[in-house]
Amino acid sequence: MTDHAALSAGLPGAPQIAYRNGTLHLEQASLAALASDYGTPLFVYSKAAMLSALAAYQKGLAGRDAQICYAMKANSSLGVLQVFAEAGCGFDIVSGGELERVQAVGGDMRKVIFSGVGKTRAEMQQALAADIGCFNVESEAELDVLSEVALAMGRIAPVSIRVNPNVDPKTHPYISTGLKGNKFGVAHEEALRIYQHAASLKGLRVTGIDCHIGSQITDTTPYLDAMDRVLDLVASIEAAGIPIEHIDFGGGLGINYEQDTPPAADALWQALLARLDARGYGRKKLMIEPGRSLVGNAGVCLAEVLYLKPGEHKNFCIIDAAMNDLPRPAMYQAFHAIVPVVPRDGLPGMTCDVVGPVCESGDWIGRDRHLAVAPGDHVAVLSAGAYCMSMASNYNTRGRAAELLVDGLAVHLIRERESAADQMRTEKMVRR
Ligand SMILES: *Cc1c(COP(=O)(O)O)cnc(C)c1O
Repeated sequence: MTDHAALSAGLPGAPQIAYRNGTLHLEQASLAALASDYGTPLFVYSKAAMLSALAAYQKGLAGRDAQICYAMKANSSLGVLQVFAEAGCGFDIVSGGELERVQAVGGDMRKVIFSGVGKTRAEMQQALAADIGCFNVESEAELDVLSEVALAMGRIAPVSIRVNPNVDPKTHPYISTGLKGNKFGVAHEEALRIYQHAASLKGLRVTGIDCHIGSQITDTTPYLDAMDRVLDLVASIEAAGIPIEHIDFGGGLGINYEQDTPPAADALWQALLARLDARGYGRKKLMIEPGRSLVGNAGVCLAEVLYLKPGEHKNFCIIDAAMNDLPRPAMYQAFHAIVPVVPRDGLPGMTCDVVGPVCESGDWIGRDRHLAVAPGDHVAVLSAGAYCMSMASNYNTRGRAAELLVDGLAVHLIRERESAADQMRTEKMVRR
């Protein structure tokens, strides 16, 4: 589908993004005005879109003992975290740095869970001192170290063990995490023994079980399969005398980037809860860790067209956003729709690769797109709320983009554009 077809067929993403009076808007804000006022590249997020994505989960889990922990690696900007903290979310963190971000926005530490295969002792100490809700442990060796660190601090660490259900989420290999051969979690066959080991360690208290099978999942079936596998383990672990207080089903629900049709969060949870009830576990405390599905379609990245470069084999549209701002195409061959902020009438347009200024052939944002734009025009890269700014780098000494949060009529600058001086601040020249 070309981007022009996408334009007439409706844009992928949240309903808060739409053309009005010939200009792309996010909520009440004209993206043309924001691009002119704040410069480009510029990320703009809709608070209403985030809250309505969250509401779909809240609706799906209504009436249950459930906790939603936003997987903040998807977008860890403070202004975004604030939205979720104020809405009562917990957070799924993967580093001590992310813990400090939750503290900075005043998030509830009891609702923080700490995931990741490589937690350091220092990070464990930091999280124990902050009194987080649960450690999602990913290996037997990590259990031993966590118990030791907790005992040395005179504390007991609440733990859940991430089990690997060996379910194929049918997504990109780099974002599928629940298959044998992934580095994540412990094998299904070993889980019971590892739970018994955990229960024997003096510095730990077993509280739950968790899994996370991948990202950008657009099917309900892998979730149901994973749930069955996890519930089989809950049965055998509890039969061995180890009570499981909560079950954490991870994140991973996909969004519509192009012609993706993931289930809505409430529909997905209706199906999952039916299975959970049928198997007699509907009264357990439930936790989920959505990331992308809460923020991905709530954000856009605005860029300016710098040059059009027609070629014998390919045409290029060179914009001022690049792989350092939008790393997903280079990393996962991912698709982002790219549309003009103010569509032009009467310009023929051309099929082109949309690329950035970075000195790498991998620096492309979109391939074979039909665009009718001229230098100086602004384009919007859609579905840019998740895994863009949080993965942004300074490659080519490019400062990271500015970020805005739109809330109805209000526009809040939540991150200033990074300068070269900001980037050099922690560097030192060798003294002569
Ligand atoms: C990344 C991650 C998530 C969130 O995944 P999304 O696809 O963004 O929903 C949840 N849990 C864990 C353990 C993760 O690593």
